Amino acid sequence: MNFVFLGPPGSGKGTQAARLSEELTIAHLSTGDLLRAAVNEKTELGGQAESFMSRGELVPDELIIGMIEEKLSQGGLDGGFILDGFPRTIPQARSLREMLDRHSTSLDLVILLQVSDATVIKRLTRRAEIEGRTDDTEAVILNRLEVYRQQTKPIEDFYRQESILTEIVGEDTPDRVYEAIRKVAIRTMNA
Ligand code: ADP
Repeated sequence: MNFVFLGPPGSGKGTQAARLSEELTIAHLSTGDLLRAAVNEKTELGGQAESFMSRGELVPDELIIGMIEEKLSQGGLDGGFILDGFPRTIPQARSLREMLDRHSTSLDLVILLQVSDATVIKRLTRRAEIEGRTDDTEAVILNRLEVYRQQTKPIEDFYRQESILTEIVGEDTPDRVYEAIRKVAIRTMNA
């Protein structure tokens, strides 16, 4: 089973994707985590991505697509995967489809976590205090929300048209949100 988690920053994608990947024992690929690791390890990709991330802008498509392509070609995703934070633009969604086609596979389910802007701002401001992520300052949070609206939201329709999008309200407690996700994931697996 191949899943994508979609939703604005702070919607809980990372937390929920980690939990589902553990329960289903499939790979969890978070582009944000991969990029932060690249920045920490001072790789070439990390150097190229850092300034975009700190401003809350998207890292250029070709860098991200190259990173995902490399992961797919390593073969570790053959047992299924959850993509968290990718795709984030229409060109990324198109590339993903081509890459999966080439590997004779496709997406089974796109889970869209819906949360209000007010919730996002509250959650990310709290996370800034706990984790100290450099892109969790108020100005950068607002920019990431705007970037989501302009560049990522259009892919909701892209997947809606393929009838693989399911919307889940992400305002509830993490456990309740997870139960809702688990239900649709299992229904899709049994279909
Ligand atoms: P959040 O969902 O809270 O914004 P992520 O950890 O998913 O956090 O991403 C952090 C940053 O990494 C993004 O603001 C962006 O700069 C970069 N990034 C992650 N995934 C992508 C992607 N698919 N395309 C472009 N940039 C990305």
